[in-house]
Amino acid sequence: MELRIGNGYDIHRLVPGRPLILGGQRLDHPAGLGLDGHSDADVLVHAVMDALLGALSLGDIGRWFPPDDPRWLGADSLQLLEQVVALVSERGWQVVNVDSVVVAERPKLRPHIAAMRAAIASSMGLTPEQVGVKATTNEGLGAEGREEGISCQAVALLMRQAVAR
Ligand code: MG
Repeated sequence: MELRIGNGYDIHRLVPGRPLILGGQRLDHPAGLGLDGHSDADVLVHAVMDALLGALSLGDIGRWFPPDDPRWLGADSLQLLEQVVALVSERGWQVVNVDSVVVAERPKLRPHIAAMRAAIASSMGLTPEQVGVKATTNEGLGAEGREEGISCQAVALLMRQAVAR
């Protein structure tokens, strides 16, 4: 059996007048802020996608879904994630698990974690047990702490049955 590990990171700015979508869930920010971006700006799903692509050295999501391509304007990131999982499967790889941590001061993410895991798992053809989503604040420090943005880090482990020689 072959194994590959990948790492992903993303950050998007918090701005007024945009929806806040994390893990496919539309959340309410207490200050009415949302994430800016060309797609739905779902940083959590973007970090997971980059971890999957990274595990197979397939570049990053900007390569597969260029931000200047009108096809991805307002795109549902969970659908982009499905496409990334298809790229992984086409190459004979299976996802063992993914794990992630979202860095956001507000809103409280804990009540939404189960729904995020379920949505990501469903897009990936996995069970929620294979999808870790954690949340932390940045203790008021840095860009996330000042609520200038929300970031996310993710890892993914892939496996492939060894080809008999
Ligand atoms: Mg992004």
